[in-house]
Amino acid sequence: MKAVRFHTHGGPEVLKMEDVPDPQIAPNEVLVRVKACALNHLDLWLRKGLPGVKVPLPHIPGCDIAGEVAAVGELCTRIKVGERVVISPGRSCGQCPHCLGGRDNLCPSYQILGGYGLDGGYAELIAVPEVNAISISAGLTPVQAAALPVTFITAWNMLVTLGNIRSGQTVLVMGAASGVGVAGLQIAKLFGANVIAAAGSDDKLAKAKTLGADHGINYHNQAIAHEVKQLTGRRGVDIIFEHVGGDTWKELIPIMAAGGTLVTCGATSGPIAETDIRYLFMRQLRIQGAYMGSKADLLTILPLVAEGKLNPVVDQVLPLSEAAQAHQILEERRQFGKVVLTI
Ligand SMILES: [Zn+2]
Repeated sequence: MKAVRFHTHGGPEVLKMEDVPDPQIAPNEVLVRVKACALNHLDLWLRKGLPGVKVPLPHIPGCDIAGEVAAVGELCTRIKVGERVVISPGRSCGQCPHCLGGRDNLCPSYQILGGYGLDGGYAELIAVPEVNAISISAGLTPVQAAALPVTFITAWNMLVTLGNIRSGQTVLVMGAASGVGVAGLQIAKLFGANVIAAAGSDDKLAKAKTLGADHGINYHNQAIAHEVKQLTGRRGVDIIFEHVGGDTWKELIPIMAAGGTLVTCGATSGPIAETDIRYLFMRQLRIQGAYMGSKADLLTILPLVAEGKLNPVVDQVLPLSEAAQAHQILEERRQFGKVVLTI
């Protein structure tokens, strides 16, 4: 099959389209002909190389995958050849207390397709356990389906499972134009929250408002702390949906309402942040980490997408052969929503 992979770490130019052996399915696996694969920042980090993390090379990136089932293993009972499916990106043992408790993203053997040590969807074919393949409704194209899993699962985990979001709360969505931000603001609105979107341009904020954001803060020319105080009457926000990290963090802690939660799934602008601990205990704040979400989360999300209550947001679609250009777009943060490769 054709696949895009990299043999060395570096810029987008290390991504090469190559002929590689077709994946073989185990008896409990299905072989999926990939139609679309959405990009995530994880793809970029793995390509660039992470300090202290040795990625087995060559590596095929891509964790958000949709396609059509080409073959099924002999132990598969639910998925049939020809079915259109979206793939749940997390692989886990399926037998430990975390997996059986519905928190498979806490499983000691949890891995993401296209992540460290597992080839992903920048390819014509991928083999995945049957449990990871989920049928999609006729109304959803592979491009739209591929735009869903990582960001919507993560945002659901952050706001619903871990953030305990409730109607009437105020939620500040950082990086609201990013894939996960777009998912977060839609889920926050679905739960009846008042949403403040923060993004780097007025154009992106205008789009965030079309998805339901009540207010926008352009963090290039507005001070987040000042604007949040104005918008909340100095009360602060109940939930901060965070994935930016770095220097921004220390401005966020003081604008949290008493009893508030900051839930983070990333550190795109830097992993080291400063926290004034006095705010934590005086206001009884909670800082919560989130990493992906459960397989069940995607099963909850898909019907909401079918009903039009949540919508995948696709910014650009490029062919697999232009994977390097697609990485460039994400690297320069030119997108609103997802950048998707078609195969
Ligand atoms: Zn497990």
